[in-house]
Amino acid sequence: MIQLYVPLNFLGVIYREIKQALTDMDRMFSLLNTEKEIADAPGASPLHIQTHSLGPDVRFEHVSFHYDAKREILKDVSFHIPAGTIAAVVGQSGAGKSTLARLLFRFYDIQSGSILIDGQNIQDVTQASLRKAIGIVPQDTVLFNDTIGYNIAYGDPSASTEAVHEAARAAQIDGFIKHLPDGYHTQVGERGLKLSGGEKQRVAIARTLLKKPAMLIFDEATSALDSKTERAFQEELLNLAKNRTTLIIAHRLSTIIHADQILVMDQGQIVERGTHSELLMANGRYTEMWQMQERVALD
Ligand code: ATP
Repeated sequence: MIQLYVPLNFLGVIYREIKQALTDMDRMFSLLNTEKEIADAPGASPLHIQTHSLGPDVRFEHVSFHYDAKREILKDVSFHIPAGTIAAVVGQSGAGKSTLARLLFRFYDIQSGSILIDGQNIQDVTQASLRKAIGIVPQDTVLFNDTIGYNIAYGDPSASTEAVHEAARAAQIDGFIKHLPDGYHTQVGERGLKLSGGEKQRVAIARTLLKKPAMLIFDEATSALDSKTERAFQEELLNLAKNRTTLIIAHRLSTIIHADQILVMDQGQIVERGTHSELLMANGRYTEMWQMQERVALD
C-alpha cells in the first residue's frame, strides 16, 4: 500500500506544480494584456489648440473604462467642458473622479467611446503634445530633495529665473520664499518635509503654471483647511482658471460653488449635473452632499 501511495503522492505534487505554473503564465499574459504600453498612433500629429488664450474645448463621449476587465469603472460617461470654462467633479471616494483625469492625460486607453480636445481624438495625437497642453496639480505632490527653485523649475527645465519667479507669484508662494533666509535656494528636505501641506501644493501649482498649460486639472487634496485658508484658496482657484479650461476634482463642495458646471458622479456614472444653484434647486444627490458637509462644518 505504501509502495503505491508514494508514486501517487509524487504525481499529485507534480500535477499541482504544473497547474500552478499554468496559472502563473495565464496571469502573466493577462497582465501583459492589461498593462499594454500606450503608444502614439502611426502618423500621429501634434494636438492643435485653437485658442491658447482661452483653452481647449473638451468632450467625453460615451466613455466606458475599466482597469481590470472584471470591474467596470466608468460606464457611458459623456460631458462637455466648453473652452475657457470650469467644470468640477464631485462624488464619493472611488466614484471614478481621478480616473477621468488619468484618461484625459492618456495614462490609459478607454475601451469604448472617445475623448476629444478641440475636436481631436486624444488617441490620434502625439502624447508629448497632449501632456504639454495639460497641467495637473496632483493631490500629493512629489517634491525632490533639492531647492524650492529647482522644484518649481522642474515644470520646465528651460525656464528663465524670471519665469520661475513669475510662476511662484501666480501660485502665491513668492512672498513666502523671499522671506526664507536662503530664498529660492532653500532646501525642501526629503519629499518636501520641511514645507507644510499648503506650501507644498503651492510649489506644485507654480510648477504646473510654469508649463503654461492650455488646460488645468486640479486634483484637490482631501485634507481639511481652516475657513480663512479655504476662502483664499477659492479665490486662488478662480485666478488659476483664468484663460484656460479647468477641471477640478473636488472634495470640498465649498471650493467649487463658482464652477460653470458641476458633475456629480456615483459608481462610474454621472448622476446629476448643473451649476451649484441649479443642483441645490434639484434637491437630489448634490443637495444631500451639500447638507452633509454643512453639518460637518458646524460640528
Ligand atoms: P477618491 O475621491 O478617493 O480620490 P475617486 O472618485 O477619484 O476616489 P478613482 O481614483 O477614480 O476614484 O478610482 C475609481 C475606482 O477605480 C476605485 O474603486 C479604485 O479602487 C479603482 N482603481 C483606481 N486605480 C486603479 C488601478 N490602477 N487598478 C485597478 N483599480 C483601480
